[in-house]
Amino acid sequence: MSAALIDGAAVARQVLDEVRVRVQACVARGITPTLAVVLVGDDPASQVYVRNKGRRAAEVGIATRDHRLPAEGTTTASLLALVAALVADPTVHGILVQLPLPGHIDADAVLLAIDPAKDVDGFHPDNLGRLVLGRPRFVPCTPAGCMRLLEAAGVDPRGKRALVVGRSTIVGKPMAQLLLAADATVTVAHSRTTSLAEEVARAEILVAAIGRPRMIRGEWIRPGAAVIDVGINRLDDGTLAGDVDFDGARERAGAITPVPGGVGPMTIAGLMRNVVAAAEPGGR
Ligand code: NDP
Repeated sequence: MSAALIDGAAVARQVLDEVRVRVQACVARGITPTLAVVLVGDDPASQVYVRNKGRRAAEVGIATRDHRLPAEGTTTASLLALVAALVADPTVHGILVQLPLPGHIDADAVLLAIDPAKDVDGFHPDNLGRLVLGRPRFVPCTPAGCMRLLEAAGVDPRGKRALVVGRSTIVGKPMAQLLLAADATVTVAHSRTTSLAEEVARAEILVAAIGRPRMIRGEWIRPGAAVIDVGINRLDDGTLAGDVDFDGARERAGAITPVPGGVGPMTIAGLMRNVVAAAEPGGR
């Protein structure tokens, strides 16, 4: 069997089309959805992410305001002052502080200072807490994108055994909450899990968010499973690989996301959806 490919680029385009319509409705009411992006330092990967976010925003009519600060000379206090100004600015609807921040800055304090109503990344404890309580406001963009991909593949999590590999705050934990809210029976594996192959073999839905190239072997996959590969790993030859052995898994899975072109495009699309939601009257 060869799994159906879940085309993240196509699904992300659908999401962006929906966002564009909602942005136009805001503009018609005199509101231009606006995202403030704060980038500290010159991490090359972060610069690429920020540039891509700006491009996608422009495509759907969202305005962006970039705040690029040098690592040297930027302190936790000066960054907190900037975030406070953006929180107070009524023309800014979403605030995104690109992670990772340089080591000398207290990232937790900065993320905590973002008004939860402008926290379009969904990383503020208030938003994560709402997710756990089943009253989500802004859901972290990558796991939200994974859920949308499952939907696009026609996979209803209800009653299914789901395995999330990885327990980070930005992917694994919120992913597990979303699957739980969708009535899956959820297991979360991590670096101390001793039975990963067996857990994978039981999973009807597998979400891999580890950061280790092709760690999930194809022969572990349960036949017919839906496989969502969040991992983005750059190999020595410059190409990208996911956390799942794609070629092997494709022989057994029912549906699978490629890397690149799977979860990646969904993350930025989800961010844009959160920004327009933040700008819509009554949207917060
Ligand atoms: P983190 O490093 O924060 O978390 C990785 C998780 O994997 C941890 O919970 C860790 O366990 C677990 N882990 C590590 N080694 C193993 C192992 N041998 N067996 C089982 N679990 C293991 O990463 P992120 O969650 O931020 O990202 C994960 C991957 O997803 C990365 O490749 C990243 O680039 C990618 N990513 C992709 C995005 C996209 O848009 N497609 C967005 C965000 C991330 P423990 O907690 O015990 O340390």
